[in-house]
Amino acid sequence: MESKITEVYHKEPDERHNTDCSKVSEMLDLVIDGEATSEEERFFNTHLEECVSCFETHQKQKLLKGIISGHLKRVIVPESLALSIKARIQETL
Ligand SMILES: [Zn+2]
Repeated sequence: MESKITEVYHKEPDERHNTDCSKVSEMLDLVIDGEATSEEERFFNTHLEECVSCFETHQKQKLLKGIISGHLKRVIVPESLALSIKARIQETL
């Protein structure tokens, strides 16, 4: 009898959790782009603290966007940065 009760108990938060996950995945782009409301962001962050899979998805998305924007910056800022780094290295030598 006891095992049945725990089984029921285990199912309920899981289903609620999945609903939260799909909400969070819908919000993901908004949050990363900074377009989510503060309420959405709070829900999002609270969920990430509890849910590893959503946390990882968020990290991957952030990384992906970071790579894209990092690449754009590298194109916009050309050799000047590399030259100033070279100059500094020569100063210290
Ligand atoms: Zn989740």
